[in-house]
Amino acid sequence: MKVKIKECLKEVPEYVAGKSIEEVKQKYGLKRVVKLASNENPYGASKKAIEAFKKFRDFHIYPKTDFKELREKIADYIKVDAEKIVLGAGMDGVLENIFKMFLNAGDEVIIPIPSFPYYHTLTKMYCAKDIRVSRREDFTMDVDAVLDKTNEKTKIIIVCSPNNPTGNVERKEDVKRLVEETDALVFIDEAYVEFSDCNLMDLVEYENVVVARTFSKAFALANLRIGYAVMDENLRREYMKVNTPFPLSTPAVNAAIAALDDLDYAKQCIKKIVEERERLKKELSKFFEVYSSQANFLFVKSDVKSKIVAEELLKKGIIVRDCSNFIGCDEHSLRISVGKKEDNDFLLNALENLKSEGIL
Ligand code: PMP
Repeated sequence: MKVKIKECLKEVPEYVAGKSIEEVKQKYGLKRVVKLASNENPYGASKKAIEAFKKFRDFHIYPKTDFKELREKIADYIKVDAEKIVLGAGMDGVLENIFKMFLNAGDEVIIPIPSFPYYHTLTKMYCAKDIRVSRREDFTMDVDAVLDKTNEKTKIIIVCSPNNPTGNVERKEDVKRLVEETDALVFIDEAYVEFSDCNLMDLVEYENVVVARTFSKAFALANLRIGYAVMDENLRREYMKVNTPFPLSTPAVNAAIAALDDLDYAKQCIKKIVEERERLKKELSKFFEVYSSQANFLFVKSDVKSKIVAEELLKKGIIVRDCSNFIGCDEHSLRISVGKKEDNDFLLNALENLKSEGIL
């Protein structure tokens, strides 16, 4: 190739999406396939959100850019000032903008591992270095180890709570100490916060804190790509400079507004998912070491290699996430999303069969 693509892209791994239900059906000739791999909300979006999306007709007109109505609804939902809220194309889009704002080549991003793989991808994309810090036994962030790694090149420190893939939350005192002892931006990812009984939103009072959330999980709008973040107003001004001019489409924004108007529906989904999570946790412990989770998935360790467990489950029509390729995970790590009761039972039944076949 004659064109010269930037060097650091060579280090960026290609994104390999998980297998789709259709692919697995075809490959193994299966009638029923259940996907418990992408932490989606199995109950689907609110009917009111779907209606709001469908009503839209003005496809030929560019969207509005200030998203005032959605920002005000979010402000009301999370009890912060609408002037501190920004939107992005999913939380992935928010993350991309933040990395764009803060990173020059050679800068450093501290990531407690294991965590959401896209942090590493983005860091490399901006020719920066991902500084990996091992978590404690209970998977919480080791604040002293993070602070030890901090220097003048550190521009962003990631706090993911509840953490993907381990499901644990961070203690507020720990994160507060981190925020107070660093000048770097502390990016708090609360994608799964609605499934948890605590949150770190208060910490946005600090000007070096951004708290980000998404409509992909509790609100079941993953395909519409709507994320948001709360930040200091000065930071917000800079964020608006790097955001693409029209990052969100109007029907998606309309659906998000309707989803917030139908909060009871989201609360019902959350309640069912949390109840199922606790039941599934108990049942899965017959097969694996299962960790407590405050998200809509469970992190488990298997005696047999996770790659084998995931492959064998696939043959039986269940897609789970083998985490052995997550930075900081070993070869026995799996993440299982909490599905509907009947889907979780399908999984438990398949595991029972793997046990009697001598595979587990
Ligand atoms: N953060 C975490 C921890 C996630 O697990 C995900 C998605 N799986 C995201 C951010 C991105 O979410 P989205 O772009 O769908 O809003």
